[in-house]
Amino acid sequence: MKSLLRYASFALVTVFLAPAACGGEPEQVEPTPGLTAFTGARLITGDGGTIESGTIVVRDGVIEAVGGSDEVMVPEDASTVDLSGRTVTPGLINAHGHVNNVIGLQADPSFYTEEHVVNQLALYARYGVTTVASLGGDGPEAVAVRDREGPDLNHARIRVAGPVIVADTPEQAAERVNAAADMNVDFIKIRVDDNLGATRKMTPEVYQAVIDTAHERGLMLTAHMYYLDDAKGLMNAGADFLAHSVRDVDVDQELIDMLTASDVCYCPTLMREVSTYVYEDRPEWFDDPFFLKDADPEVIAALEDPERQEGIRNSSSAQTYKAQLPQALRNVKALHDAGVRIAMGTDTGPAARFQGYFEHGELDLMVESGLTPMQTIVASTRDAAECLGLEGVGTLEAGNFADFVVYTANPAEDIGNSRTIESVWIAGNEVPGAAGD
Ligand SMILES: [Zn+2]
Repeated sequence: MKSLLRYASFALVTVFLAPAACGGEPEQVEPTPGLTAFTGARLITGDGGTIESGTIVVRDGVIEAVGGSDEVMVPEDASTVDLSGRTVTPGLINAHGHVNNVIGLQADPSFYTEEHVVNQLALYARYGVTTVASLGGDGPEAVAVRDREGPDLNHARIRVAGPVIVADTPEQAAERVNAAADMNVDFIKIRVDDNLGATRKMTPEVYQAVIDTAHERGLMLTAHMYYLDDAKGLMNAGADFLAHSVRDVDVDQELIDMLTASDVCYCPTLMREVSTYVYEDRPEWFDDPFFLKDADPEVIAALEDPERQEGIRNSSSAQTYKAQLPQALRNVKALHDAGVRIAMGTDTGPAARFQGYFEHGELDLMVESGLTPMQTIVASTRDAAECLGLEGVGTLEAGNFADFVVYTANPAEDIGNSRTIESVWIAGNEVPGAAGD
């Protein structure tokens, strides 16, 4: 697996010496550029732990020390940010999002530019999503944006799958996986789905070739699937990540055993299901200030068009996905209870799947499925990172990037509090324009 950590230094200095007590006035110390201490917040560390009052010391975009206020001393030359009364989590990680060629409700290949990639990553970041695994539809522009990540970063990090691999033969599959690998992607993505019977599914012979070639190139295989049988077929073939929910039936012990034996994670993308039918009416979030702060009124108006709503009410695929949401919710809970790791993902990016905002809806749905808020946070931080082999992100710990979210209320108490974002920090830089209610 290629290391995704591009600039962090792991040279840790975790012992801070107190200034010598020699009486008299304390000397004024010039702050060291790039050295900041965030003090006084409740720290939800991403691994299930909480520090009730803690300090994060950041040097040049990387966490140098983190711990209780009584354990971690603030270096005297650090600038300080007082976060008393706030709660901090690691930045949210969307393990299945997209950075796309969509503007408003329109998709057009000409929209896909480096600037547009950056704009979408800035939008994710304003909502607290600090890393996005873009699973398909990515071109060299996104790779270039990824490769520019440095200490001045203030939008979400991106990791890319490149184009979704489509192939008719094993030879063609290998050729296309190699082309994506040559583009220096982070993962390979395939779809094994007939879109409710409307299209032809990739055959096991072809996806086996995709998976084998991906592994030869050191890349994880992420798989779109829908049916339980396909999830099992993909697991037999060596898939590394199930990028959607099983939506046709209850998951069974055989799938659970396959997933736990290989520590392959499951990414529910529940908001993707919601997006297929929800615009049959006016969704309640059209009145949510947290949504409206970054929403385009023209897009809202278009989605409220009665003819469009009628079309969705009459769409059998939309109504099928709607009917299957409870199935998807049951399966998340069953898999989580059985020890399968869940990675938060939304499949945002296509039109009307709102990047940034939908991640908060996903957290709500994960809790609705039966996970606790803390389990949901772990799935959205540490586990989302580990499930995709992302290094340097996902937890508040020394050596990781200083990517975190500050809330005015504790999301581990009530997941709805994830909407109380006060500020977002990426590589220790405050993201412009991030704010909750
Ligand atoms: Zn997707």
